[in-house]
Amino acid sequence: MSPWSYELPRILLLLAIVVLNSLLFGYPFLWLTLAMGIYIIREWLNLNRLVTWLRDNPEELPPQAHGIWEHVFNTLYRREKRYRSRIKQRERRLARFQESTTALPDATIILNKRGNIEWLNKRAREYLGLKNSDMGNRIENLVRNPVFVEYLQHGEYEEPLEMPSPTTPGNTLMVRIIPYGKSRRLLVARDMTRLQRLERMRRDFIANFSHELRTPLTVLRGYLESMQDDIALTDEWGEPLQTMGNQIRRMENINDDLLFLSRLENPDNRRQDEDIDVSALLVSIREDAQALSQGKHDIRLECDPQTNLTGSQNELRTAFSNLIFNAVRYTPEGGMISIRWHVSDEGNAVLEVEDTGEGIPRQHIPRLTERFYRVDAGRSREKGGTGLGLAIVKHVANRHHARLDIESRLGHGSLFRITFPAKAVIKHDELS
Ligand code: ADP
Repeated sequence: MSPWSYELPRILLLLAIVVLNSLLFGYPFLWLTLAMGIYIIREWLNLNRLVTWLRDNPEELPPQAHGIWEHVFNTLYRREKRYRSRIKQRERRLARFQESTTALPDATIILNKRGNIEWLNKRAREYLGLKNSDMGNRIENLVRNPVFVEYLQHGEYEEPLEMPSPTTPGNTLMVRIIPYGKSRRLLVARDMTRLQRLERMRRDFIANFSHELRTPLTVLRGYLESMQDDIALTDEWGEPLQTMGNQIRRMENINDDLLFLSRLENPDNRRQDEDIDVSALLVSIREDAQALSQGKHDIRLECDPQTNLTGSQNELRTAFSNLIFNAVRYTPEGGMISIRWHVSDEGNAVLEVEDTGEGIPRQHIPRLTERFYRVDAGRSREKGGTGLGLAIVKHVANRHHARLDIESRLGHGSLFRITFPAKAVIKHDELS
């Protein structure tokens, strides 16, 4: 029903009174003015009640009114009720959200476009030493670690940042920034102390274990070599002694690789950088590979002799050797191995080791760099592998901010590529 249908009978009644009075007493304008005055005063009084009701207590029942005013009061009252219930719903939702974020094990902060804190949870106060009153302030002014500030400003958030805890000395935080919406950022900080402690324990255990194993293995090998030299024994024990010697060498190789890996993983073990003449290094590794191949493979080397690299010679020699020796070991007799060292169009230094060997089934490729992961464990052992070669390559690549890519076609061969960042490249002219 139209709201005016409430009011129309009243207006008509008033007009009828005006007409009647005019007919009875004359002065139609006087009666009309009087009727309009009464109508305006009524409107004014109702308007006043409306303003007072809205100002003082719109949640309470509206004042009694008639006609269009009853409609106005009721509509506003219903709207007010709906609005209040929606606010309550939102408040409940917000309370639930705050409860869940308080239960989060990580510090969580919402930053706006300018890096001002819009919201933070309880852990953020605990881990980063922030206060609720810090909301609205720039986070760089509150967490002043220069590494953090640079990370925040740099805008490259693919990799998380590890930084010392600003509140608890000795603790480490892992900070992640996730951009979302319109230039907003979600900052999540996790306490890594426990995990790091466990990781250190694991690393120390392997390093100590490998270290302890060294001496008994050396003693065993020493005795075994003396026994092998003893002609009286070799007739009867020749073969078993040979097998024992091979197995001890295998154990020593695994042990050495484990030790090497734990050294690579140790964050305290800084990289010893030097300018490496990669061409000379590869020539020397190729000679070793030829000795391993015993002339059964065609090993080719294409080098850009002017391109040198900044890095650890010891680590890179091991990584490059692992790739090249793998190529020899997993390529049947008569196959070809190509070693290439060059600078790409983007300025990165690239080492490629390609073989025409057995290839690797596609599903194994993503897992090849895991420790002791082998496509065929029996074959790897038979070839003298430790199962740690590619794990070492991957770690060395990471330590040099390089990327390892593996491509392979079963039955056709494999290609292992290490791509070094352009800033690690040294041109020969610069050296002289
Ligand atoms: P391993 O000591 O067993 O060779 P690696 O970590 O060096 O250990 O290599 C892991 C596995 O990857 C190997 O067992 C082998 O199955 C596969 N692999 C590595 N290099 C090659 C290659 N050039 N051709 C084919 N398979 C390879």
